[in-house]
Amino acid sequence: MPFMKQNLAGLEAYKAPYITTGIKLDANENTHPIPQALRDHMREWVDSMLISLYPDTNSIALCEALARNYEVPSDWVVCGVGSDQLIDYLLRAVLKEGDKVLAPGPSFSMYRQSTFINGGQLIEVPLASDFSYDVPAFLEGIRKEQPQLIFICNPNNPTGCALTNEEMERIVTSTSALVIIDEAYGEFLGETAIPLVKKYSNLIVLKTFSKAYSLAGARVGYGVAQAPLITMINKIRPPFNLNIFAQEVALWVITHQEAFAPSIAAIVSERERLIKALKELGLTVYNSKANFLWVETPLALDEILTKEEIFIKKMGYNGKPYFRISIGTPKENTLLINVLKKEA
Ligand code: PMP
Repeated sequence: MPFMKQNLAGLEAYKAPYITTGIKLDANENTHPIPQALRDHMREWVDSMLISLYPDTNSIALCEALARNYEVPSDWVVCGVGSDQLIDYLLRAVLKEGDKVLAPGPSFSMYRQSTFINGGQLIEVPLASDFSYDVPAFLEGIRKEQPQLIFICNPNNPTGCALTNEEMERIVTSTSALVIIDEAYGEFLGETAIPLVKKYSNLIVLKTFSKAYSLAGARVGYGVAQAPLITMINKIRPPFNLNIFAQEVALWVITHQEAFAPSIAAIVSERERLIKALKELGLTVYNSKANFLWVETPLALDEILTKEEIFIKKMGYNGKPYFRISIGTPKENTLLINVLKKEA
């Protein structure tokens, strides 16, 4: 496909400011301190790291650990430089100029950007008016549009709504198109569609270490699918895509998941506290199964909070302003609530 620069016109690239001070609640990271044992392990590892050699081109140790974790063969797993990279490779592998890609709307901005860059056309099926998934509308969208590729974001970024595995299965079985279930925030929902991969060859589940597992800076994501789909991605994936640091840190995390259970549990319980507090302040807050909230208000929330060095993400949808607020530590959330109590 010829790359056409003008394709990018009007596309708002994701350019979050690099924030080093204040409270960062704009990119759905896990803001709890990382486990001390992880710091200790990496410090020790740095002493013996083989940085003068190329890393394992296939991230084999990491893929094998992930495969053990999900009880699938190791050739059913591929790792990417963030799941963003795998989204792009899947679109590169599947799309021909003008092909259709179906996704919920609003959803993760990279679906539109990567579809565009790869010559496809993104068709959004709107969520219901309460920003929950509208499964019948989604199924109808698939029937009508006959897309080549379908994104399901579960839970959905930026709204936090989620589908059950039964609903996802209904979607996967309604089509022969490739279905990508993006579970970047799946740990906050506490469920995964990976068991469905054993039944359906047109399904890939993408996950990331960037959110629940605190490794956004290391850039590690992975996909789980039956071997032919993984082989298709591996044909596109350049050698050595994950550096040695990324492979090592992600391997430690997947083999020490219990170290992250307290922060994940804290975020889930803070989610309910924050929803209640924001509703009491008169804001409209939608149900969320992720580590962020989708908030509707005529107030300039971002401006009010930025003055106090609390950063959230302002997002428009259908001509209306919305805000996406990541759920921080209990202390960060209390500071946010107190600023709003005072200013809003
Ligand atoms: N999917 C969704 C829904 C996301 O929100 C993000 C990050 N914002 C990603 C995928 C990509 O995550 P990463 O590239 O850090 O793995």
